[in-house]
Amino acid sequence: MAEKVGNATCAAVVKADAYGLGAAHVAPVLEQAGAREFFVAHVDEGLALKAFVSPQARITVLHGARPNALKDCTAAGLRPVLNSLEQVAQLQAFARQTGQTQDAVLQLDTGMSRFGLSGQDVKRLADTPSLLEGISLSLIMSHLACADTPDNDANAQQLERLVAYAALLPKAPLSLAASSGIFIGDAFHRNLVRPGAALYGVAPNQTRPNPLRPVVRLQAHVLQTRTLSKGDRVGYGLSWQAEGPCRVATLATGYADGFARQGAATGCAWFNGHRLPILGRISMDSMTVDVSALSEEALAADTLVDLLNDQYGVDDVAAAEGTIGYEVLTSLGRRYHRVYQNTPPLS
Ligand SMILES: *Cc1c(COP(=O)(O)O)cnc(C)c1O
Repeated sequence: MAEKVGNATCAAVVKADAYGLGAAHVAPVLEQAGAREFFVAHVDEGLALKAFVSPQARITVLHGARPNALKDCTAAGLRPVLNSLEQVAQLQAFARQTGQTQDAVLQLDTGMSRFGLSGQDVKRLADTPSLLEGISLSLIMSHLACADTPDNDANAQQLERLVAYAALLPKAPLSLAASSGIFIGDAFHRNLVRPGAALYGVAPNQTRPNPLRPVVRLQAHVLQTRTLSKGDRVGYGLSWQAEGPCRVATLATGYADGFARQGAATGCAWFNGHRLPILGRISMDSMTVDVSALSEEALAADTLVDLLNDQYGVDDVAAAEGTIGYEVLTSLGRRYHRVYQNTPPLS
């Protein structure tokens, strides 16, 4: 990703426990790969992350800090994002109180109406520079709403607004692109990019082939297999019925492990290149798949089948579940035995 953005700094977003993959393992790998800037959503996430990165790494907190958390936030060297004039005033009060200039990121709302100062707020700051006294802005950022649709006019409009608003404020580096934004054009890279999902192999858009490598393989054990006759039914509600003789296997993964019930209709597992369609409803701890394509010997109890692999990734599971790869990753359950490959030992 860093190579792709040339001179822009490539930060790493590791919020939500590195998108469910385990920040304790993932953050050191990203730092080893050159990341010096990390983003999390909450102060608590930032405090926890400090144990897994070097003191040179800078951690930015996207939601900023509530007034009663500012002390912990800044004492730990975490950089808050200021998302409203209220947060600006709170940090200024804190700067006065401590007698120390406070480093911060300012977020501007350029069209998504979710986080950041409005155009009017920016004008207020421009008209009253004293509102920023005691605050040193080391980055001005915004976030794209439609970056996964590269041709959407909203992208260029948001970039235009960011540049126009920033021109009214103290000079600072700019950041706009997250994963998808990195792939819609160099103009969006500015000074710093903030990829999260792309680091974890999620496709940046649905219109072009995914240029990223998958990072997760997920396997489930076969608990049992059985042979069904025409008319036999499977699972809660007996919603699936065999049209002829077939073989089914029960796998030890269910919706409590992050495999959404709504994925049952078109989802599947894989074994040696064979597609094993999910049959009936997904249970909390198990799901049933059609293994008629395999011989009885090929798939005994205890065999592992793939739920995610290089050919069938988080975006494929997401398509079956009617969601996005992000949600598949962050929903992966806590019951999996997790094996990390090629990661530095945990300190
Ligand atoms: C989550 C988040 C990111 C990372 O987004 P991806 O699409 O996962 O790359 C970047 N910036 C902000 C403000 C975010 O909330």
